[in-house]
Amino acid sequence: MKTNLSRIPFVSFEPENLLCYGYDASKRQSRPDAVAFPSNTDDVVSVVKAAAADGFVIIPRGAGTGMVAGAIPAVKFAGAIPAVKFAGAIPAAGRSLVISLERMNRILEIDEENMIAVVEPGVINGRFQRTLADMGLFYPPDPGSLNFCTLGGNVATCAGGPRAVKYGVTRDYVMGLEVVLADGTVINTGGRTAKRVVGYDLTRLIVGSEGTLGIVTKITLKLLRQPEAVATLMAVYTEMAQAAESVAAIMKSGITPRALEIMDRHSLRAVEAYKPLGLPTDGAMLLVEVDGGTSAVNDEIDRIAALCGKLGGEVKIARSDSSAESLWEARRAISPALYRLKPTKINEDIAVPRGKVPEMFRRLDEISARFDVLIVSFGHAGDGNIHVNVMTDKNDTDEYSRAKAAVEEVFRAALDLGGTISGEHGIGLAKKPYIGMELGPETIALMKRIKAAFDPGGMMNPGKIFP
Ligand SMILES: Cc1cc2nc3c(=O)[nH]c(=O)nc-3n(C[C@H](O)[C@H](O)[C@H](O)COP(=O)(O)OP(=O)(O)OC[C@H]3O[C@@H](n4cnc5c(N)ncnc54)[C@H](O)[C@@H]3O)c2cc1C
Repeated sequence: MKTNLSRIPFVSFEPENLLCYGYDASKRQSRPDAVAFPSNTDDVVSVVKAAAADGFVIIPRGAGTGMVAGAIPAVKFAGAIPAVKFAGAIPAAGRSLVISLERMNRILEIDEENMIAVVEPGVINGRFQRTLADMGLFYPPDPGSLNFCTLGGNVATCAGGPRAVKYGVTRDYVMGLEVVLADGTVINTGGRTAKRVVGYDLTRLIVGSEGTLGIVTKITLKLLRQPEAVATLMAVYTEMAQAAESVAAIMKSGITPRALEIMDRHSLRAVEAYKPLGLPTDGAMLLVEVDGGTSAVNDEIDRIAALCGKLGGEVKIARSDSSAESLWEARRAISPALYRLKPTKINEDIAVPRGKVPEMFRRLDEISARFDVLIVSFGHAGDGNIHVNVMTDKNDTDEYSRAKAAVEEVFRAALDLGGTISGEHGIGLAKKPYIGMELGPETIALMKRIKAAFDPGGMMNPGKIFP
């Protein structure tokens, strides 16, 4: 029997598509019943309406690099759910349609006069950065996945990256959005002016909403000029405390680095075992990057080198892109290196106020010892966002249950220090059991009412964020 969706040529029911679009970087899998590949906003509107008429729920998808299973169906229902009339009630859960925004990948406009770009959601972050760099322009948000994640996914998760310490995160660059709501209505939020105070700030509400309020189909972004110069510094220490003290000293010096990354001894050991780079296997490492005018950059990197040296750091400086790349090698090698340690990595991205980073590292050591599990930590020391990896083996039930208990303790410690359970990955499916640790019931209830106002039938990415 022909359904509304099956009449749309860019909707696929092929098993290979259902398989490929049923997972993301969280490594969870849950097959959708159909996948749509719209090319423009009109396509998105027509497929959203057809999905509603056929009783399908919708999962928006960028590149599937999300770490919390936001882009895969929450529940796989067996059998068909009867179609409902579009104007009537939409089932809160039904068969699932993934809407992949990958074909909406055009950079529509780069307006140098007003320092604004308008893009479709499927544009890959790294491609956007390179296009801008060729014009002397700069878009700072730089998630580690920038060579494969989409700007739409970055907006939906409010992605951050190492440069957040100086330049902020995705929300600080989104000026306006076009969004298709669950009933097929197209709304526009924000605009092209830096100042705008007309009604509620729906742009900020939609940024970070993880596809639960609507589908982002166009994004207006603020741009900056490329800095004249960048310099990078690596400092290795025999003690984590020295590295933590250096972070505090740098941030107090009046210099705002554009990246300030930290790796603990377990990260260093994992990298050395995977790719020997001559790193120490005890202590810690910092990577610092500064940008700006050439003489200021040279002066700042020398001052930081002196500070780190005074606190026991062995320092290397890179003043060119190619030598900087070799300093970043260790940091980039961590993720693959970790899989050599244990088959299962529970990867959390807590954040604490910057001044609490040393205390958080102390607590991580204590939790690791108490639960007898290996915890490998690294991250963005400059903005307090630490990637905590509890290493385990899912098949070892005893160790796995200790690892899960350790994760809960890590969240408790972060919250106790005034932090958050997620600095950048979001909640999705993976972290929703813990959301109540951070948000009170009244706050969660208000968020659910906001969701219901956007999406009364619960059709947009159901089962995500809220327990
Ligand atoms: C190696 C690696 C490194 C990473 N490093 C970082 C990092 O440094 N910082 C960071 O923040 N994250 C990082 N991530 C996580 C991930 O890359 C980001 O969350 C990214 O923003 C997801 O983009 P995506 O296009 O892959 O979105 P997806 O994974 O496809 O989707 C993510 C969420 O956004 C929703 N969504 C996607 N597109 C739209 C749209 N157009 N409209 C509405 N909702 C939409 C989905 O429904 C889902 O809930 C990393 C991931 C990997 C694998």
